[in-house]
Amino acid sequence: HATKKKNPNIFLPHLVASMEVEESYIMIKPDGVQRGLVGEIISRFEKKGFKLKGLKLFDCPKDLAEEHYKDLSSKPFFPKLISYITSGPVVCMAWEGVGVVASARKLIGATNPLQAEPGTIRGDLAIQTGRNVVHGSDSPENGKREIALWFKEGELTEWTQVQAPWLIE
Ligand code: ADP
Repeated sequence: HATKKKNPNIFLPHLVASMEVEESYIMIKPDGVQRGLVGEIISRFEKKGFKLKGLKLFDCPKDLAEEHYKDLSSKPFFPKLISYITSGPVVCMAWEGVGVVASARKLIGATNPLQAEPGTIRGDLAIQTGRNVVHGSDSPENGKREIALWFKEGELTEWTQVQAPWLIE
């Protein structure tokens, strides 16, 4: 009889890249900025082929950090997380592309950098969960929500990426 092969990704829907054009909010956290990793991190998304639609260096106010991480507000580490995110400037980015949300999560790697695969941003550049250098939206819905939260009208740019036909057939 035919054996049914289970798709292991079925249990990890956020890791399955979709064929839809999506947006992801990617943020270099204060440790990434202080450690001089801004160029290195941007470069990984740029080289992958995604399109940058918004970019700014920004001092995050406490209420915005709390709103962004509101789903974690009951966690014991929440106060530490808020003081970490507001401890220095962050780099806010909006990236667009086919499957960008799941792909960015893969490029970023596991939340705990010691468990993140080598080759990922956290796997290559960080040690601790509380200093994991970068954020990436966990769903297309949250990508939209977070970009609307962090960027004001007029801060996002629509443009044509000339390399697009060399990236998508
Ligand atoms: P991710 O950023 O990988 O989506 P989560 O949404 O679970 O991970 O958590 C958001 C952020 O909260 C993490 O990136 C990390 O900065 C912080 N965080 C999560 N868990 C812990 C923890 N146990 N201790 C300290 N900080 C944590």
